[in-house]
Amino acid sequence: MDTARLTYEELLAQHRELRFQLEEANDTIDAIRNGQVDALIVKGDEGHQLYTLKTADQTYRVFIEKMNEGAVTLNRGGMILYSNSRFATMMGLPLEKVIGLTFETFVPELSAEKFQEVINNGWEEDCKGEILLINKNGLFLPCLLSCTTLDLDEGLSLSLILTDLTTQKEAEWELKVKNDELIAAHAETEKLNNQLEDTVRERTKDLLISREHFKLLANNIPQMAWTNLPDGEIDFYNQQWYHYTGLRFGDRAGWGWQRVVHPDDLQSTLKKYEYSLKTGQTFEIENRYRCWDGVYRWHLNRAVPLKDDQGAIIFWVGTATDIEDQKREMERKDEFIGVASHELKTPLTSLKGYIQLIGAYKKEPVPAIVNQYVGKASVALNKLQRLVDDLLDVSKIHAGRLEYALTEVDLTGLVAIAVENSRHIYPSYEFDNQTNEHYHLNVICNAERLEQVIMNFINNAVKYSQVNKEIIVKAEMRNELVRVSVTDFGIGLSPEQKEKIFERFYRVEDQKFMTSGLGMGLYISTEIINNHKGKIGVESELGKGSTFYFELPLLF
Ligand code: ADP
Repeated sequence: MDTARLTYEELLAQHRELRFQLEEANDTIDAIRNGQVDALIVKGDEGHQLYTLKTADQTYRVFIEKMNEGAVTLNRGGMILYSNSRFATMMGLPLEKVIGLTFETFVPELSAEKFQEVINNGWEEDCKGEILLINKNGLFLPCLLSCTTLDLDEGLSLSLILTDLTTQKEAEWELKVKNDELIAAHAETEKLNNQLEDTVRERTKDLLISREHFKLLANNIPQMAWTNLPDGEIDFYNQQWYHYTGLRFGDRAGWGWQRVVHPDDLQSTLKKYEYSLKTGQTFEIENRYRCWDGVYRWHLNRAVPLKDDQGAIIFWVGTATDIEDQKREMERKDEFIGVASHELKTPLTSLKGYIQLIGAYKKEPVPAIVNQYVGKASVALNKLQRLVDDLLDVSKIHAGRLEYALTEVDLTGLVAIAVENSRHIYPSYEFDNQTNEHYHLNVICNAERLEQVIMNFINNAVKYSQVNKEIIVKAEMRNELVRVSVTDFGIGLSPEQKEKIFERFYRVEDQKFMTSGLGMGLYISTEIINNHKGKIGVESELGKGSTFYFELPLLF
C-alpha cells in the first residue's frame, strides 16, 4: 500500500485496523497461555490455515499454570526444560532464569542423597518423597516431590510436582505443641479433679462428724443454745431450748424468739443483737426468758460469730445461761451488805463520839500512852468509817438510791482542800498541787461526792506507790472540760487490769502488792462521775505509775 498518497481519514482507518489486529493478536496469545484455545486459524497468502497447538490440553495447561504447586520437567541430565511460574516464585527467581538450570541447583547438600534416590526411582516408576529445596534467599523449603515420566517429542522427560510443605509443617509443629500442652493440661486437670474429689469426700465426712459433734454437744449442755445466720435469723435451737420454752421450732425460728423475751428487756436485747450483727462483736446481754409455765427467769445471753478465711461471718453460735439463782443470791448479798453496813453505822457513830470525848478529856491528866492509844483507835475508826460508808454507797448504787444535791462548785478550791487534807493524813508523802490557783474552774456537781472521788484517787495513789512518795494532783481546763487528775509513780497497771478496775469488787490479784481494800472505791467513783455525766479514766504503765482522772463539763 502506498501510504504516501493516502488521505488523513484513510490513515486513521488503517491505524484503527492495525490497532484492532494487535489487540486480537494479544488476546489470542493470552488465550493460548491460559489454555482457552487449542487451535487457531491464521489468514495467510494461501488462504486460511489451521494450526493446532502441540500437546494441547486445555485442562492441564490451565491447571499447571494456576496450581499452587511447582511443576517442572527435567531431561535425563536433570536440566529444567519447563517450569511453571509457581516453581519460579518458590525459588525466588524469574521464570526465564529457572529454565535451563539443572534442578540440583535448588537441592541443598542436606537433601541431595534423598533427592537422588527419589529421582532415580522416578525414572523407573511414579513415586513420591519429601525433600528439602533451597531458594535464592538461602531459605530451606520442605517439599513433597512427586515424579512422573513424560514421553515428549524430544524424548523421555521427568515431570516433577513440588508441593511446598512449609505451612503444613509449621501447622503440624504447632499442632504437636498444642497437643502436648493439651495432654499436659488434661493430666493436670485429672490430677486436680482427683484431689478435689478426695477433698470433697474428706470434707463431707468432716462436716458430718463436726455437725454430729456440735449437735451432741449442743443438746447435752445445761444451757439453751442456738445458731443464727448473719442476717439474724435463728436456724437451730438445742433440746434445752425446747424443754425450757415448751415450743416447737416452727413457732420460734427466724425472729420468733422475740416473743419469749420479757417485754421490758426486748428493746435493749434487740439493740445489742443488731449492733453485734452489724459489727461482728460478741453479743452479750442479761435478759429474762419466759419458761413454758409462763414464769420469766434471768439469763445471760452470749453469741460469738464463726468466720471464714476471709473474715466473713458464716453463722453465730449463741447460748443462754440461766442466772436466775445467781441474781437472787446477788440480791440477797446486796441486801445483806445494805443492812449490815447500816447496822454497823450506828454503833460506829457512837464509838467515834466516845473516842472524841476521851481525846478531849481534860479534867484530870491522862497518861501519855492513853492519848497515843486514843490516836491509834481514832485512825482505825476512820478507816472503818470509810469502809462502812463505801459499803453503804455500793448498796445504795445497786438499789438506785445514790442521790445528792448539785450546786456550782469551783474545782480549784476543792482540789486545794483535798490536797491539804491529804498532807495531814499522809505526812510522809509529797503532794504537788499543779493547779493554777488563779483560775476558777466552776462545774455543777455535788462537792462532797467529788471530794470523795478525788480522795479515792489519792488514797489509791498512796496505797499503790509505797516506794516513790511523790503524788501530783492537778485540775485543769481541757477544751470545754475540767480535768482533775492524780498521778503516782507506783506499781502501775497492765492493759488488761486497766479494763477491769472500774468494775465492782475488782482487785488486782497480785500477792506482791496485796494491800487492804475491797475493790469498791473506783466502782463508786465511776458511778458518781457517770451520774455527773462526766468521764472517768486511767492512763498507766505497769511498773511506772498511773494517772487517774475524771472530766466534767466546765460551767462559764
Ligand atoms: P481498792 O479498795 O482495792 O483499792 P479500788 O476500787 O479503789 O479498790 O481499786 C480497784 C483496784 O484497782 C485496786 O485493787 C488496785 O488493784 C487497782 N488500783 C487502783 N488505783 C491504783 C493505782 N493508783 N495504782 C495501781 N493500781 C491501782
